[in-house]
Amino acid sequence: MPGLVVLAEDDPAVSSLVRLYLTRDGFGVEAHADGAAALQAVLTRRPVAAILDIGLPGLDGIEVCRRLRERGDRTPVLFVTARDDEVDRILGLELGADDYVTKPFSPRELVARLHAVLRRARPVDDDLLRLGPVSVDVTRRRVYAGEDEVHLTPTEFDLLAHLLRTPGRVWTRDELLSAVWGYGGGSGRTVDVHVAQLRGKLGAGAPLRTVRGVGYAADERGGDL
Ligand code: CA
Repeated sequence: MPGLVVLAEDDPAVSSLVRLYLTRDGFGVEAHADGAAALQAVLTRRPVAAILDIGLPGLDGIEVCRRLRERGDRTPVLFVTARDDEVDRILGLELGADDYVTKPFSPRELVARLHAVLRRARPVDDDLLRLGPVSVDVTRRRVYAGEDEVHLTPTEFDLLAHLLRTPGRVWTRDELLSAVWGYGGGSGRTVDVHVAQLRGKLGAGAPLRTVRGVGYAADERGGDL
């Protein structure tokens, strides 16, 4: 599952071309034409990566990345730059930016670079599960909805983490009982109650989908199917 990418690009032609290629490759794309909106989007939507054009109105791409890092946000960043002196700035600031492409670039090259950035980010991020606005830090057993920490019971936590490990896969209540509670053949109602509690705590963007007559899946769209 490639996941959501936040794109900051003020050239509409470049923005729509990049969006087209990323979408084809299975990524979700949230595009913004100015740096402040992109910064807010990365902080609240928790994308798998951000693609930041450096020459942006308001906050430039480097400033967006700097502010993310200041807040402890480690979202992988791929810069897009039009000028050599910008490359020097990126490298000189040691922002923990993961790579850059120079304009003009081919969309294929950009997608390939993005994949490389995501591969490199994975070892650090291995225990971080994200879907929609929800992220789960498995090692520290902490859960966030957007920027807010959500407090779950141990069972709610295990159920959420279990579902988020396999986005899109539909689990029956019995499968969930045996995977999370450690026994099969219990009451499916137990699962229903915990999913309802999770939805209540995670709020409107809870990425949990009810698949009628079957069970549940982690799905960014949430709701019922
Ligand atoms: Ca630009």
